[in-house]
Amino acid sequence: MARSSLPNPRDRRPGERRPAGRPSLLWWILGAIVLVAIAQSLFYLPSGRTVSYSEFKAMVRAGQVAEVHIRPDTITGSVKGGDPQGEFTTTRVEDPKLVEELEEAKVRFTGETPSRWPEILGWVLPFLFLLALWIFFMRRIGGPEGGVMSFARSRAKVYAEDDVKITFQDVAGVDEAAQELREIVDFLKNPKKFTNLGGRIPKGVLLVGPPGTGKTLLAKAVAGEAGVPFFSLSGSEFVEMFVGVGAARVRDLFQQAEHKSPCIVFIDELDALGKVRVQSPMGSHEEREQTLNQLLAEMDGFDSRKAIIIMGATNRPEVLDPALLRPGRFDRQVLVDKPDIRGREAILRIHARQVKLAADVDLTVIAARTPGFAGADLANLVNEAALLAARRDKTEVDRRDFDEAIDRLIAGLEKKRVMNEQERRIVAYHEAGHAIVASVLPNLDPVHKISIVQRGFAALGYTMQLPTEDRYLMTRTELHHRLAVLFGGRTAEEIALGEISSGAQNDIERATDMARAMVTELGMSEALGLVNYEGARRGGLFLETPMGRERGAHAEHTAQRIDTEIRSILDQAHGLATRILNEHRDELEAVTARLLEKEVIEGEELRAMLAEMRRGSAPGPNAPSA
Ligand code: ADP
Ligand code: ZN
Ligand code: MG
Repeated sequence: MARSSLPNPRDRRPGERRPAGRPSLLWWILGAIVLVAIAQSLFYLPSGRTVSYSEFKAMVRAGQVAEVHIRPDTITGSVKGGDPQGEFTTTRVEDPKLVEELEEAKVRFTGETPSRWPEILGWVLPFLFLLALWIFFMRRIGGPEGGVMSFARSRAKVYAEDDVKITFQDVAGVDEAAQELREIVDFLKNPKKFTNLGGRIPKGVLLVGPPGTGKTLLAKAVAGEAGVPFFSLSGSEFVEMFVGVGAARVRDLFQQAEHKSPCIVFIDELDALGKVRVQSPMGSHEEREQTLNQLLAEMDGFDSRKAIIIMGATNRPEVLDPALLRPGRFDRQVLVDKPDIRGREAILRIHARQVKLAADVDLTVIAARTPGFAGADLANLVNEAALLAARRDKTEVDRRDFDEAIDRLIAGLEKKRVMNEQERRIVAYHEAGHAIVASVLPNLDPVHKISIVQRGFAALGYTMQLPTEDRYLMTRTELHHRLAVLFGGRTAEEIALGEISSGAQNDIERATDMARAMVTELGMSEALGLVNYEGARRGGLFLETPMGRERGAHAEHTAQRIDTEIRSILDQAHGLATRILNEHRDELEAVTARLLEKEVIEGEELRAMLAEMRRGSAPGPNAPSA
C-alpha cells in the first residue's frame, strides 16, 4: 500500500455533469411562439362595450348607429354624435338582411375578409415546432450539418468571470496544493517582477485529484486571490458539439485571454478532451481531436511571458494524452487530495458559516466520523443537515441532524467504497509497519509522511519516504533493507492482527521485481554469480537480439534456480521485518493508534514520537544489524 497517489479512474462521481449552459435555441423559439400567440389575442381584443345582437339591431333601426365595421365573427361600430362611450362590439349572427337594413338606416359600413392569421399560425407553428425538435436532436447527435452550424457557432463565444469572489479562505484541507498555487498568485499579481528577471513562468498547471476535492474551487481561488479574470471551459462540453466549434471556442478563448492578460484560463475535466488519441474506424472522435490539437497549438503559440496561466483539472491523469504533459504545456502537476481529519474539520467550518449551529454540534467529532469524505461530500453534509433541521421546523441545526445526515451520506458513499472501521485498522497497522521498519534500519530515506486517508480504490494508505540526496549506487545491504521496509506492512498485519489482507499486493510486486533484478541483473546472488540473465529485457546493448536470447529465455533449471534465489532473498527480508516489528511492538501499537486518531503523521512528528518512546525504554540495541 505504498503506491503512488494517482486517483482511480472509476472514481468519477455519476451525478457530476456539466451545468446547464445559456438558454438554447429551442427556448428562443418557444418564446417567440408564445409572443406571437399573445399578439394574436391582443389583435382580436374587442373594443368598446359589448352589446347583444338584438340590441345592436334595435340601435340600427332607431338610427343611432353612425358606422359599423363587419368582421368575420364580430361587428364593431360607433353611435352618432362622436360620443367616446359610443363604441360597441357585438357577436355576429347569421343575418342576410343586415346589409339591407344598414343601407336603409344610412349607416356607413365596411367589411373585412377573414383574417389569415389562424391559417398562417396553423401552418407555421407545427413547422417551428418541428424545426426546434430537429435542432434539438442535431445538437444531441452533433452531426456536421452546415445549415445549423451558424447557430452553433454562437456557442464558440467564451465569457470571462471578471470579479471572482472566491479566495483561499474558502478552501481548506488542501494546504500543500494551496501552497504551491500561491506562487502562481504572486506571479499573476505582479508579472513584471518575474519577467524582468527573465524567469520562465509555468504555462500550465494541472490539478490532479479525486472528484469533489476542490480542484475547480482552487482554480477560482487563484483567480480571486490575484484579482484577475477567470475564463473557464469544461472538457465534456466539447464532446457533444458540432465539428469545428470546439476548436473555434478554444481559439476564441485564447484570443480573449490575450486581451485580458493577466488572467487564468481553466479547463475542467481535461480528460474528456485530452484522452489519448486513438485511431477509431468510425472517426467519431474527430471533434475531440480537433479541439485537442487546437488547444495544444494555442498553448505552444502564446508567449510564456504573457501573464496567462492555463489551469486544468482531472481525476484521471493516467488517460491523458502525453502530448498534454510535455514541457511548455501542463508541465506542472499539483495533487489535490482528500482531506485528513484536520482538513475535514476546517472544511466543515467553512461550510458551517452559512448555517446556524446548535451548541451541541462539535465539528471535530463530525470530522472524526467522516473518513473518506471529500470536500464536496462535507459541503453536502452540512447542507443535508440544514435541510433536515428545516424539515423539523427547528431554528438551529443540532447534533441529531448531523448524525442523521452522516448516516445518509455514508450509505450513499458505501457504494463508492469508503473504508469501514475494520479496514481502517488493517491499513493503519500496515502503514505503521512500513514506517517503523524504515525508521529502525540505517541509511534509508527518512519517512516523510504516513497516511491512511484513502485515495481512490488503489491506494488505501501510504507511507512516503523522501530521499535526502541523489543516489546512483545502492549496496546490497541497502537493497535488503528496502525489501524489509516493503514487507513491513504485511508483517505488521501478521504480528498485530494474526491475519493478512490483500493490501500488500503492490508491495509484494515491487519487492519481487527488486529481488529479481538483484539476482538476474545486479549479480548479487552467490548461487547464480555475475551473470546477466535478463538479456535484452531492458532493451539495452542487446537491442538487436539474436534468436533465442530473448527476454528471460534461459534454460529450465536456471529459471528454477533464479526463482529459488529470489524466494530466499525475499524470505530473508521478511524475516528481518518480523524481527524488527516484534522488537518494536509497542511502537507499532502507538503509531497505529495515532494514525487511527489523526489519519496523517508527518515525518517530524513520527521521529519525535519514536525518539520519545525509545528514550523511555531500556537502552537496548535499537538498530539491529541486517
Ligand atoms: P472538484 O472540481 O475537485 O470535483 P469542486 O471544486 O467542484 O471539486 O468542489 C465542489 C464543491 O465542494 C465546492 O464548490 C465546495 O463547496 C466544496 N468543496 C470541495 N472541496 C473543498 C475544499 N477543499 N474546501 C472547501 N470546500 C470544498
Ligand atoms: Zn504497503
Ligand atoms: Mg470540478
